[in-house]
Amino acid sequence: MQNDPLKNAESQLRAVASVLELSEKEIKALLRIDKLVKGELSVKMDNGKTKKFKAWRSQHNNAKGPYKGGIRFHPNVTESEVKALSLWMSWKCALAGIPFGGGKGGVIVNPKSLSRRELERLSRAYAKMIYPYIGESKDVPAPDVNTDGAVMAWILDEYEKITKRNEPGAITGKPISLGGSKGRLEATGLGGFFTLNSLVKAMKMKNPTLAVQGVGNVGSFFCRFAYEAGYKIVAVSDSKNMVWNEKGVDIPKALDWKLLNGSFEGFNGGKLFPADSIVGSAADIFVPAALENAIDRDNMGELKAKCILELANGPCTPEAEENLNKKGVVIVPDILANAGGVVVSYFEWAQNISGFYWEEKTIKERLKEIMAKAFDGAWNEWTEIKKIKKDNIPFRMGAYAIAVRRVLEAMRMRGRC
Ligand code: NAD
Repeated sequence: MQNDPLKNAESQLRAVASVLELSEKEIKALLRIDKLVKGELSVKMDNGKTKKFKAWRSQHNNAKGPYKGGIRFHPNVTESEVKALSLWMSWKCALAGIPFGGGKGGVIVNPKSLSRRELERLSRAYAKMIYPYIGESKDVPAPDVNTDGAVMAWILDEYEKITKRNEPGAITGKPISLGGSKGRLEATGLGGFFTLNSLVKAMKMKNPTLAVQGVGNVGSFFCRFAYEAGYKIVAVSDSKNMVWNEKGVDIPKALDWKLLNGSFEGFNGGKLFPADSIVGSAADIFVPAALENAIDRDNMGELKAKCILELANGPCTPEAEENLNKKGVVIVPDILANAGGVVVSYFEWAQNISGFYWEEKTIKERLKEIMAKAFDGAWNEWTEIKKIKKDNIPFRMGAYAIAVRRVLEAMRMRGRC
């Protein structure tokens, strides 16, 4: 098997298609990308020279509503990755029961090598490339790896300048002052925490320990919520180091250290190991919250955890999942575990369209309700499939079965397949 994200996404779909007994025609229709926008962004650098950056926006399927998905700025972005992420967004929105299809954007760039002004010019150039294809009822981008509220604000501003209208619902993950939603920043981490609670209950686990890979936006908020609720997090890592403490890492101290110093180097609240050793650390639940393919054929044998909570997108390759599933490891799939961000993006979009804004308490309550419902639905579906198939099928199949069935139903209603 391979680490090509699009091939992984296809093999996941084919696995659920065999459970749902879909035809090849239906599988092809579900795999089809509606539109791929690609181009090269010309950006003026501070030294006066112009640099080119490859960029994409993939629109997978809008049978259930406007395309929805983040924009990633990363040196390893590929066309295959952007397309795969757009497929996963379609399943994620359908599983959460929100009225969107799947989209995703990406630019090959290391944003850390750019100045603030260069980053702004890059974001505006990206907006110029995608503006005809986005909008509140067409395609609604949001932040992803290395993009944040500031990037969304520049993209929205450029889009509104070109289209000459005010349309805050065209982008989510905006700063609150531009129509962003309360609770959006921490939404994916909080949604992951609600899913953790559902998992622990469903598995009847007692005081499970956690190891969290990656403390960016998603990982750090997840750690804070889990820590405040009393979970023992024995390991956290960034791209350089893992901090290990069997008594539990003091999360606020560790995150403050990382914020002040840029890494865990010198932090004395635990032992430091190389970042990759976190996969083999002795914790009950492993929480990948960095990039895809974190667990593959090379390191799957090291894993000691009983469960994986996929906060990153695509962190387990299908080969790793198959292997771990045979060993009885329960993997809560990304389309379920990290849906909190897109759910609160949906709340943001709904607030923008109605012009009526909600309090944080309402947002958190509604997020909790949607995440719990999605988890219970997927868990029950999985239990049913296991009974019928009498087979060792991964939990992902329960989540995918619901999502794919919903997308297919919408496509059938429209006469698209
Ligand atoms: P981010 O850029 O804020 O954080 C990613 C972090 O991972 C960075 O701190 C980076 O240093 C770290 N990292 C990179 N390589 C690592 C390694 N080998 N080991 C440990 N850490 C490593 O990005 P994010 O928004 O937190 O996204 C993380 C993941 O969650 C991505 O897969 C993203 O697609 C997914 N996701 C994000 C959102 C969201 O709302 N931000 C929503 C759904 C899914």
